[in-house]
Amino acid sequence: MPRWTSDPTGRSVAPVMASTGQTLTRTSAPKACSAARQPLRNLHPPDDATSRPTWIHRATIVVMSTAAVPAGNFSEWLRGAEASLTTGKGVTTTVPCGSCTACCRSSMFVHIAPQETQTIRRIPRQLLFPAPGQPKGHVLLGYNDKGRCPMLEEGNKCSIYRHRPRTCRSYDCRVFAATGVPVDERLQPEIAERVKAWKFDHDSEQSREEHRTLQAAAAFLRDHRDLFPPGTIPSHPAPLAAFAVRIFRQFASAAAATNVAPAGIVQAIMTSLAASRDAQR
Ligand code: SF4
Ligand code: SF4
Repeated sequence: MPRWTSDPTGRSVAPVMASTGQTLTRTSAPKACSAARQPLRNLHPPDDATSRPTWIHRATIVVMSTAAVPAGNFSEWLRGAEASLTTGKGVTTTVPCGSCTACCRSSMFVHIAPQETQTIRRIPRQLLFPAPGQPKGHVLLGYNDKGRCPMLEEGNKCSIYRHRPRTCRSYDCRVFAATGVPVDERLQPEIAERVKAWKFDHDSEQSREEHRTLQAAAAFLRDHRDLFPPGTIPSHPAPLAAFAVRIFRQFASAAAATNVAPAGIVQAIMTSLAASRDAQR
């Protein structure tokens, strides 16, 4: 099963590719392939419920479970996701996938960096093509007309598991359950089912507060995308969820100030993101 070692949402959904038997044929190229990574600041949650900002107070944790599958401790997951997105180096966290292989069968392009030589040499050349918008050497692994990764064998085993792409190791569909960002049920029904089943546990009120804040941040991004500069808020669910993880502390700080209008929160987030970018240079 995929493990998360860096970016929990490093895959993307893109136009369908046609296949002839086992050989994939590219019919159109995807437009993007992974989410950017930016640092986050510390969260100083309000001490009591009455001091909660309106934006967070409105939110309740969205629980989408029918037959629950334990997702682990929410705050531990969040620290790992933040560290992963901040450093890009990742924290090795195993996703408790069990027998699920939904993300290998959900019509996703898998980005592979040129440094992943052991992986690239194990994948037939005709299955790889240049990753749009990426430097030379970055490639994408496509999927067949059933949406399956061509490296997935009968019996749903990854034929290159020990050398699977970093993107596969990093994919963690719990990010959707954590943020409340919905998966496209039409395009990825099996992932959507799994996301509905995840159930985080919270060992403290602070943990529940963090979860509420993260979901409020994600909802804020969706509801106020027009207030951000064009192109800032990703349209696809996976990068949107990752973006919410990256900015939720800035969101919490800005929203904690009383009487902050949405435009003020947007400005605070953008200022913080710009400062983070400057610090990285
Ligand atoms: S969809 Fe989620 S649970 Fe299923 S294999 Fe992928 S990461 Fe694991
Ligand atoms: S290479 Fe394909 S089959 Fe293997 S883990 Fe990645 S998506 Fe799944």
